[in-house]
Amino acid sequence: MINSDLTLQQKKRAPSLKEVQEGRNWIVLLPASNSSSFSGKFPYHDILLERRNRKTSEIVDTDIHTLDLPNDEGSRVSYVCLKPDIRSFDLLTLARKLVQAHKSDNQQTLCFHVSGFTDTQSHRLVESLVAATAASIAIMPNYKTKQKTDYRFNKINIFGVVKTDAYKRTLAEAEGNALARYLSMLPSNKLMPGDYLKKLQILSKENSWKLDFYDISALKRKKAGAFLAVTQASAVKDAGIVCLRYNPARVSKMNKLSLVGKGICFDTGGVNLKSAKYMFGMHDDMQGSAVALGTFLALTRLNVNYPIECWLALATNHIGPRAYKPNDVITASDGTTIEIVHTDAEGRMVLADTLIMASERKPSLIIDFATLTGACVYSVGTGYSGVFTNQENYIPELIEVGKTCGERVWPFPMDEDYESALKSEIADIKQCALEGNADHILAARFLQRFVKHNIPWIHMDLSSSQNKGGLGHIPTDTTGFGVRYVLNLLFSGKIWKK
Ligand SMILES: [Zn+2]
Repeated sequence: MINSDLTLQQKKRAPSLKEVQEGRNWIVLLPASNSSSFSGKFPYHDILLERRNRKTSEIVDTDIHTLDLPNDEGSRVSYVCLKPDIRSFDLLTLARKLVQAHKSDNQQTLCFHVSGFTDTQSHRLVESLVAATAASIAIMPNYKTKQKTDYRFNKINIFGVVKTDAYKRTLAEAEGNALARYLSMLPSNKLMPGDYLKKLQILSKENSWKLDFYDISALKRKKAGAFLAVTQASAVKDAGIVCLRYNPARVSKMNKLSLVGKGICFDTGGVNLKSAKYMFGMHDDMQGSAVALGTFLALTRLNVNYPIECWLALATNHIGPRAYKPNDVITASDGTTIEIVHTDAEGRMVLADTLIMASERKPSLIIDFATLTGACVYSVGTGYSGVFTNQENYIPELIEVGKTCGERVWPFPMDEDYESALKSEIADIKQCALEGNADHILAARFLQRFVKHNIPWIHMDLSSSQNKGGLGHIPTDTTGFGVRYVLNLLFSGKIWKK
C-alpha cells in the first residue's frame, strides 16, 4: 500500500570510473581528518577535496558539498567530510539532507561510497543513509487532483562496505515507520475507527496475524467504562479495542511482548472543546496506535521468536448531548472509579481499559505509545519524546538507546507523591488536575494504576510525533517516532532478552 520496493547491492571495493559515470547520483562520505592518506578512494577524490578547500567561508564538518563531475553523464555527487563519532541524531539529519539533495533527479538508483573509516564506522554511516532513503520513498496520502510525477529511488548501490544482513532491520523499521506515518496523515474522514478496523483486517490477512475486535457491546459486557465514556458522543458506534496477535513458528522463550497504542481518530476535546488552533491536526491523535502497529509490523517482518500482542484503542472524542462531562464519575473495567475533570484528557481514559485488558494476558513487558499530553511537548519540545517506566533501573538504557539510534527520549520521575494532585473527594482517583503542572507525569501515574500484576511497563508520550520539516532521517512533519526506538531497545538485549 505504501512501500516502494528497494533493492540493495553492496561491494567492498571502491567504484570504478565507469561505475561512477553509470550511477548518476552519488553520496560520498569521507573522514574529516587524514582525508588523503587512505586507500579505496572515490575516483574523483582529489577533485572533491579541491572543491571543498576552495570555499572561503569556514567549513563545518556537516556541510554538504554538491557538484557535477566532469564525466559524460555529469554525475552528481554530494559529499561530506565528517567525524566518525558524529551523534546519531545529527547523522540521521545529515543523511536526510544528503538524500533530499538527489530527489529531484529522475533517476531510480542512488549510490553510496564510504572510505577511510573502519568497517564498524562505515556500517553505522551507511545505515543512516539507507534509513533516510527508505524514509524518503514511502508514499504518503495525497488527494490533489493533479498529481506530480514523483520519482522515487528503488535501488541503492553501496560501495566500500558490505553488511551481511543487508540492513534488514533498518528496512523493517522503515516499513513500520512508513505505515505509521501514512495512517497518521490520513484525514479523519478517511480514517474513522471503522475504516481503521478494515485496514487492520487486510493487514492481518497479509501478515497472518490473529485479530480480535472488542466492539461497544463487548466492552459494555467487560464494564470498560473509561473507554466507553469517551465514545458516548460518537454518532457512529464504530469504536472499539483491537487485539492483533503474532505467533512465531518457533517460540524460543516464554517471553511475551505487549504493544499498546492510543488511537483517537479525531479529538475535538469533547465538552471541553479545543480552540481552532489546537484542534487543527487532531486527526493524528491516533499516532500512538499507528506507531504500535508499525512496530508490530517491523517485528513481524524480522520473524522474532517471541509472541506479541498489539492492542489498539480506536475511538473518536466528539462533542454532543450524550458526551461525557466534567464531574461525571466513571468506572473502569477493574472497578476503579474515576472523577472526570477535563474531557480533553481522553487518551488516558481509553488507555486505562486497554492496559487492563493487555495486563490480563500477563505479558513480560508492556510498551504503550500515545500522543498524550501538551505538557510533554512543553517539557522537551518536539525533538524528543517523553519516556516513563515502573522499572527505574531501565532508565539509563532507555536514554542510551535513544542516543544510539537517533530517536531520542528523555525520562521523567514517577514518584508516588505526584499522585496527591489526583486525589478525588468522590471517586478513587481524578482523571487529571485542572490546575497545576506536570500533566505528563500525572498522566503516566494515572496509567500505571491500570498496569496489573507488576508487569514491567514503558510508556512513551510522543511529543515528537510532529516536528516541522521532519526529524532525523524522516522528511515529513509527521514522524512516526517510536518504531525505530523500540526495535533498537528490544534488539539491544539489555532489558528484553531475546
Ligand atoms: Zn484530547
